[in-house]
Amino acid sequence: MKKLLFQFDTDPMASVFDVVVGYDGGADHVVSYGGVNPENVGALVDGTIFTRSPKEKKCTAIFVGGSNLDDGQKLLKAVKKKFFADFRVSIMLDSNGSNTTAAAGVALLAKTALLKGKRAVVLAGTGPVGQRAAALLAKEGADVVITSRQKARAEMACRQMEERFGVKLTPCEATDNEARSKACEGAQVIFGAGSGISPAQVVFGAGAAGIQLLEAKHWQENKTIEMMADTNATPPLGLEGVDMMDKGKERNGKIVFGAIGLGALKLKLHRACIAQLFERNDQVLDAEEIYAVAKRMAAEG
Ligand code: NAP
Repeated sequence: MKKLLFQFDTDPMASVFDVVVGYDGGADHVVSYGGVNPENVGALVDGTIFTRSPKEKKCTAIFVGGSNLDDGQKLLKAVKKKFFADFRVSIMLDSNGSNTTAAAGVALLAKTALLKGKRAVVLAGTGPVGQRAAALLAKEGADVVITSRQKARAEMACRQMEERFGVKLTPCEATDNEARSKACEGAQVIFGAGSGISPAQVVFGAGAAGIQLLEAKHWQENKTIEMMADTNATPPLGLEGVDMMDKGKERNGKIVFGAIGLGALKLKLHRACIAQLFERNDQVLDAEEIYAVAKRMAAEG
């Protein structure tokens, strides 16, 4: 029985990256659809759940992707709503690599040191990767701040992850490198609270590709930062002075992970999750499930 992966992408053109990893994860055939939304997904889901016997259904799976995490979450919900009894197939959500990238980065940080009780600042954390990283850091017991250039965007990202994960996050406006540095020092004033935040021990760079978030002096001279991860692999990198290949390297007394250093685990994790989809027909692989796999893989080295 052929393993079929149906890629439902919320963008007009389905992601090539996700097709390649679909094959590398073990699918025999990847069938891509772009422009998928809760209104038009119904017939596509019917095609996955009514075509194979109960024993064969594990050979059909769905991957939800696209550049917008909120759209991806809504699509995942609409697909799950179509499932009933054993008329279901396994499904994975990874809009813009959000779950796999955040899970890989946070799992490597969690393996390096206990995150519970630490202050973590997710710089430019309003995108898909940053939102998920903030949620996973908070689930580990860290006290998490999300920065954005715009107050309203930081608040929205916090609210959405709080509702989804039941965690508490703190929004912080930081318009440039200097302001992001101040946020890491704890000097930034939190909206409404009127007081400073405590200094960061963990910094997670989640800015758009090719956007520098901190200059080297901003973190090298910071005495409280213990660990940092940067997800941006497109020069200029997010955290100047962190090499994209760094994987648990000590720099200026801090343990750092660069985008390719953590990206290797991200890719391995993405493939492993695709492979896992074909083991049973009743799995939903979202942030928590993907993070559990990431932690296992990080522990194995
Ligand atoms: P994204 O949505 O493209 O961007 C994240 C945030 O960056 C935006 O919400 C925005 O925040 C901020 N930003 C955009 N332009 C900016 C500018 N000129 N100055 C300052 N901030 C700016 O990113 P994503 O999809 O979450 O991905 C995050 C990073 O992970 C990207 O660099 C992506 O390439 C990388 N990535 C890496 C891997 C890996 O394996 N290493 C895998 C997937 C993705 P505000 O507008 O709210 O300020």
